[in-house]
Amino acid sequence: MVAQTHPQPTATLEDVTENLERVRQAIAAAATAAGRSPSDVTLVAVAKVQPIERVRAALAAGHTVFGENRVQEAEEKWPALKAAFPSARLRLIGPLQRNKLRRAVALFDAIETVDRPELAQALAREFDDTGRRLDCFIQVNTGEEPQKSGILPAEADAFIAECRDALKLPVRGLMCIPPADEEPSLHFALLREIARRNGLQGLSMGMSGDFEIAIRFGATSVRVGTAVFGVRQPGRP
Ligand SMILES: *Cc1c(COP(=O)(O)O)cnc(C)c1O
Repeated sequence: MVAQTHPQPTATLEDVTENLERVRQAIAAAATAAGRSPSDVTLVAVAKVQPIERVRAALAAGHTVFGENRVQEAEEKWPALKAAFPSARLRLIGPLQRNKLRRAVALFDAIETVDRPELAQALAREFDDTGRRLDCFIQVNTGEEPQKSGILPAEADAFIAECRDALKLPVRGLMCIPPADEEPSLHFALLREIARRNGLQGLSMGMSGDFEIAIRFGATSVRVGTAVFGVRQPGRP
């Protein structure tokens, strides 16, 4: 079953609170239906491009875990938001370039897009230098799409071992973004299998259109933007 949430482009602040509640209930229902505990699934509210008032509304409603896909945009918004809401936690869900790594480590609480050896090595060095050790998720390009980042499935086991054993990164799990035009469950199942055989617990998968399916396949965190905050400005992913 696909999400029954149909956010309006004109979401108001009240809508954000209602949407949050509806998404939380849908998460709980999907978890229960899968024989899992609702508390095993974290809702990551994806705040990219959204008007700041909507993000504040979610924070004021008590929501704590947020996702951003661009370091610079996050830097413009989150220092002030974190100061006002100290329990807020921020996850990077977009590609991380080497030249923004230091700033990302300073601002974010988790990096969900560890996708290549050079980045993993640079993160390990930055963690050692700063003493900050962010939770890491390894992004897997389950659809093997050339334009998408992520380690290829065939290279995932070796990369996970390098990150965890050689570089000592705090690897909490795996993350994927299935191809838009394919059945997401195939990709969720593949990600779950790679995690299982590597003894990893965390699975970041599922967005507004498919988070209930992802939960059925074991998602421990779902990244939901439009169903919480409304439709984003055109022209941005
Ligand atoms: C934007 C984004 C999301 C949220 O997408 P929605 O369809 O708005 O829920 C989730 N994951 C990633 C990596 C994103 O960039």
